Amino acid sequence: MNTKPRVLIVGSMALDTIEAPGGKASNILGGAATFASLACSFFAQPVPICVVGEDFPQEHIDLLAGHGVDTSGIQRQEGKTFHWEARYLDDFDERETLDTQCNVFADFRPLLTQEQSEAHHLFLANIHPSLQLSVLDQMRGPKIVGCDTMNLWIDTEPATLRQVFSRCDILFLNDSEATLLCQARELRRAAEELSRLGPRCVVIKKGSHGAFVYYQRQVFLAPAYPLQKVIDPTGAGDAFAGAMMGYLAREGNIEPETVRKAVILGTILASFTVEGFGVDALRSLKTEEIIARYGELAEMTTFGRVTL
Ligand code: AMP
Repeated sequence: MNTKPRVLIVGSMALDTIEAPGGKASNILGGAATFASLACSFFAQPVPICVVGEDFPQEHIDLLAGHGVDTSGIQRQEGKTFHWEARYLDDFDERETLDTQCNVFADFRPLLTQEQSEAHHLFLANIHPSLQLSVLDQMRGPKIVGCDTMNLWIDTEPATLRQVFSRCDILFLNDSEATLLCQARELRRAAEELSRLGPRCVVIKKGSHGAFVYYQRQVFLAPAYPLQKVIDPTGAGDAFAGAMMGYLAREGNIEPETVRKAVILGTILASFTVEGFGVDALRSLKTEEIIARYGELAEMTTFGRVTL
């Protein structure tokens, strides 16, 4: 029996077609819940709550189970799996969505079992904010709730999104989303503005430029790990959030020191994710490699005080 703390992860499970400077791959395993679950599995037991169609290969579910993921919340329904196609430009921080076919994901209504609703940790990946609210309503007193979103919901559902933010502890979003949501253009002021909506911790991801974290009125800056070669940036944000939530669950607290380590682990898992297509790099990752890269990043960013 897995005795690690459970982290419920609600979001998409997908078959993606990706064109990146590193090449092209069709119908590969993707989805926010997939990346978040694999990254989380190094620290806690992920319980993805999602829906897939009849075309979703059983080997993908077996891969997740092999990483200690509780796959009982993956519903298989008649129809096709959510399909997403994207192309990255030479600048990896920019991508173009070529096609989104919601398929069975269009009717996704997450319904938790009693056991799932008692989980202490919840990550709401990017889904319609009213579904995020319905999951929050089903939970019985979660201790740490993280949530993510996308520009579509910021444009079309701002009021519902604000209700979600008011009920979460950690808000994950990227810099363009933060500036879409806030009056302020400066990340520090935007983060302050966002934290007034409810979340204790605001994590603004800046792609290859790292992450800006605002917590308890303090700023924490995490640079991205400098990679030799990026293959496919898909899923970096979800892996970041999954790892961060997993580590917080493992430690059982959201103290500033724990949050800082969780952010760096998020950074590290995101860096491994983009070194392969889809989940290729995550599937073969070893805990020792995470620890080694964590040490390297600490070395690269540590400097002493100066007296002049
Ligand atoms: P990221 O690169 O972290 O933004 O995550 C990309 C993953 O999100 C891909 O594997 C997609 O399958 C999934 N995805 C893309 N668009 C959506 C959407 N509208 N809703 C839910 N998941 C999505």
